Amino acid sequence: MRETITFDDVLLVPKYSEIQSRKEIDLSVPSLGLSCPFISSPMDTVTEVDMAVEMSNCGGMGVIHRYNTVEEQVLLAKNSISKGACPATAIGVSGDFIERASVLYEAGIRYFCVDVAHGHHALMKDALGKLRVKFGKSVHIMAGNVATLEGFNDLSDWGADSIRVGIGGGSICSTRIQTGHGVPTLQSVIDCSKTDRDSLIIADGGMRTTGDVAKAIAGGADLIMCGSMFAGTDESPGEVFASSDGKKYKVYRGMASIEAQRDWRGSHNSVEGVSTTIPYKGSIIDIISLMKKQLSSACSYSGSLNLKEFRNKSEFIIQSNSSQIESSTHILR
Ligand code: IMP
Repeated sequence: MRETITFDDVLLVPKYSEIQSRKEIDLSVPSLGLSCPFISSPMDTVTEVDMAVEMSNCGGMGVIHRYNTVEEQVLLAKNSISKGACPATAIGVSGDFIERASVLYEAGIRYFCVDVAHGHHALMKDALGKLRVKFGKSVHIMAGNVATLEGFNDLSDWGADSIRVGIGGGSICSTRIQTGHGVPTLQSVIDCSKTDRDSLIIADGGMRTTGDVAKAIAGGADLIMCGSMFAGTDESPGEVFASSDGKKYKVYRGMASIEAQRDWRGSHNSVEGVSTTIPYKGSIIDIISLMKKQLSSACSYSGSLNLKEFRNKSEFIIQSNSSQIESSTHILR
């Protein structure tokens, strides 16, 4: 049985650097026309109009969730596009997904995210085939999620331009608890980076800090999808509320949680997520701005001027349990 690693198990070794300022560093993802690699998750407590708009303004991308009627999702898409955003929209692999995609295409959407929990599946093959027949190469298709190189290569061969990599690692996810299945997200990214296909790798689930983001990119990710890091903001859907001690919170929930399933389909099926509250964080603009600075610092520690160089130059080392303690802030009080 092979051993696997995830974010806390490794560190990146600092390298010789000639970088004078973080401003020299280019975080862009040229193949998608983005100026930073950040994408917000297609979840009903993460991405609707406000998030899609600010993600675009910040140089990233929002993926509008699909847990609504076609009419509701089209309205979200249109409102994001009239406000100047260039969002992706999530669709499923069965039912009305082709009709949904067609109406969204009519509304101006050119980025689709085929969004299912287990993407390495016959239904995904069928859906990607149908989408390519319908839209040809006029759309960018994200698909997922997968956890293995085999899954990644199959989705690529079936027509996906970018692939969400990570099963069971999401902060609100209980898939590994309920089903025993999953692969640590960083390991999946590293495994998928061995691909000889051209599809982009989207690391998805389990990143809690920009340090984790940097490790995912160093491991091979082209793009970073975040739920919890972007939830609890002004731009995420839902109300801010105060607890009895005056602290502010918002709801953040897995789309396979009982609460989310009851809201979007009236009852719950297999439950693989939880609904929780997270501290209110202010605007996504400030969060992305800070993440860009911290990711630029990460590039600087590796002596890299852009994300491609960062991926090529990065060297991981395994850290021991006591090293993990040293790596966290540990001032004696
Ligand atoms: P986070 O960034 O760690 O909070 O993870 C967000 C990711 O978790 C999303 O982009 C999805 O891939 C995944 N996800 C969303 N809802 C659920 C769920 O209910 N169960 C399992 N995974 C989920």
